[in-house]
Amino acid sequence: MTGQKMAGTTSRGPKVNLTTSSPAETRRLGRLIGKQAAPGDVILLQGDLGAGKTCFTQGVARGLEIKGYVMSPTFVLVREHRDGRLPLFHLDLYRLDNLAELSDLGLDEYFYGPGISIVEWAEKGRGLLPQGHLMIKIEIAPDNVRNLTIEATDDKHRRIVQHLKNRLKNAGSKIAD
Ligand code: ADP
Ligand code: MG
Repeated sequence: MTGQKMAGTTSRGPKVNLTTSSPAETRRLGRLIGKQAAPGDVILLQGDLGAGKTCFTQGVARGLEIKGYVMSPTFVLVREHRDGRLPLFHLDLYRLDNLAELSDLGLDEYFYGPGISIVEWAEKGRGLLPQGHLMIKIEIAPDNVRNLTIEATDDKHRRIVQHLKNRLKNAGSKIAD
């Protein structure tokens, strides 16, 4: 992953910009974040179809020592993985028709419980998702490149951004495995 500067985006909290050049690298970034994850962490993902949101989530699952295969929960809205260091609640709002459907899921159990939550297509959840979170925006670039912006909106999640920044500082422009 390569450190990168991006201008012109409005900032809400501590932020780091990274580039990955393969699915394996995106999974590795996810794994690093999964290792740092703490109960109640919420990771919101934004990016077009095929950006790598599920790929990233598979890496987080690996970092949480989850053994089962993490596939996209597109048709069920949420999948729970409870065989790792912490429970992982993986939501995908792509096919969400209305917000009532989302509140019916009992979101508090996911967001304020002992597990960590990852939400694909978070922009569709609007007001129903926690204000305090790690926001990851993934942009597709040519040649398998993905530009990621990772931003913490509260103190709870800023340690993850800080950790990534430290990794970049210590390893030059690459986050080592
Ligand atoms: P999403 O969940 O955002 O729709 P997926 O993770 O399911 O996306 O799929 C991402 C696709 O893009 C996969 O086919 C993967 O092989 C491909 N890909 C190419 N380059 C990358 C990269 N740098 N990071 C993640 N995925 C990549
Ligand atoms: Mg997906």
